[in-house]
Amino acid sequence: MQIQSKLPNVGTTIFSIMSKMALEHNAINLSQGFPDFPLSAELIDGVHHYMKEGMNQYAPMPGVPVLRQRISEKLNRAYGISVDMDTEITVTSGAIEAINSAMTAVINAGDEVIIMDPAYDAYEPIINVNGAKAIGVSLTQPDYGIDWESVKARVSDKTRMILINSPHNPSGAIITAEDLRQLEALTRGTDILVLSDEVYEHIVFDGQEHQSVLRSPELRQRSIVTYSFGKTFHATGWRIGYMITPPELMAEIRKVHQYNTFTVHTPTQYAIADHLENPVNYESIAAMYQQKRDYFLEQMKDSRFVPVKASGTYFQLMNYSQISDMPDTEMAEWLTKEHGVASIPMSIFYQDRQDNKVLRFCFAKGEETLKAAAEILCKI
Ligand code: GLN
Repeated sequence: MQIQSKLPNVGTTIFSIMSKMALEHNAINLSQGFPDFPLSAELIDGVHHYMKEGMNQYAPMPGVPVLRQRISEKLNRAYGISVDMDTEITVTSGAIEAINSAMTAVINAGDEVIIMDPAYDAYEPIINVNGAKAIGVSLTQPDYGIDWESVKARVSDKTRMILINSPHNPSGAIITAEDLRQLEALTRGTDILVLSDEVYEHIVFDGQEHQSVLRSPELRQRSIVTYSFGKTFHATGWRIGYMITPPELMAEIRKVHQYNTFTVHTPTQYAIADHLENPVNYESIAAMYQQKRDYFLEQMKDSRFVPVKASGTYFQLMNYSQISDMPDTEMAEWLTKEHGVASIPMSIFYQDRQDNKVLRFCFAKGEETLKAAAEILCKI
């Protein structure tokens, strides 16, 4: 049988490849981003409680009302905005479902979507499967910032959307209030939509603030913003997130969402709604992750890996050019198989797969794990 692939150049995601390799070689897995410490026992009890209470049938298509209510309160608290729980919030199966449903709803064949380069690996295939083209704009070096003149230069009459991601995976860079002003100026008077992937919104370090596009009344009108409870509550396997967008856009996106996943696991939605009542549950994670970042860096200070400054996310980039001139994919494989520490080669996040001898390490791990990994890496 002849299959006409819609994604002929796409293989298995690097996260599955490296996690599998880590498992097979019994390596410490700092590749795929997920925490290795337990989540709140109260949250787990909550899911169990609502299952026993009989909350086991389909939730309403946009998400259970009490969860959307709490999300609205959380957004008000974090960004000082008022969001309508009925028309502007949809609970999704992770942020990636939100991105898929949103793109499928608003991107047409032949459109162009501007993405930052490097970018999270899922964006381009989702753009391509919708018949559109990803236009990569290089982030600046060494700080992975956005050069708005370069973005402007790539805007064309086909540009349907600009996709930004802050805190940024894989670099850990964050956007500033000035970036929001630049994005406002660039999109003003156009039909360009903004997709802002903000799944690491609560993981921002050194007293800095997350600059959500939702803070800008002007950008909010054209933005689809995605969030993740998996990241915030250390439960990446639960696959639960949400998106925020104005009512007219949301109506279109829900047309896709309802035939995509329809709804998300019901008892988990109720349990998360309860968990959101106490803001400490999400506001405390920045300090917790900052401590982990600093601990990992401290343990690595005598190594020949050179860290790249990270302002957010739970990823740390490390340059290994003082150690080897091996391509980063080979280096990641060698470190996993021969030394027992798995990481992600940075080149896979670039459109042209450029190799700058940089690996991404996930530090969402217990101190023992970070210490053991650093001990190995320091000897290399
Ligand atoms: N977001 C995670 C990362 O960047 C991976 C998610 C996945 O494995 N699909 O590591």
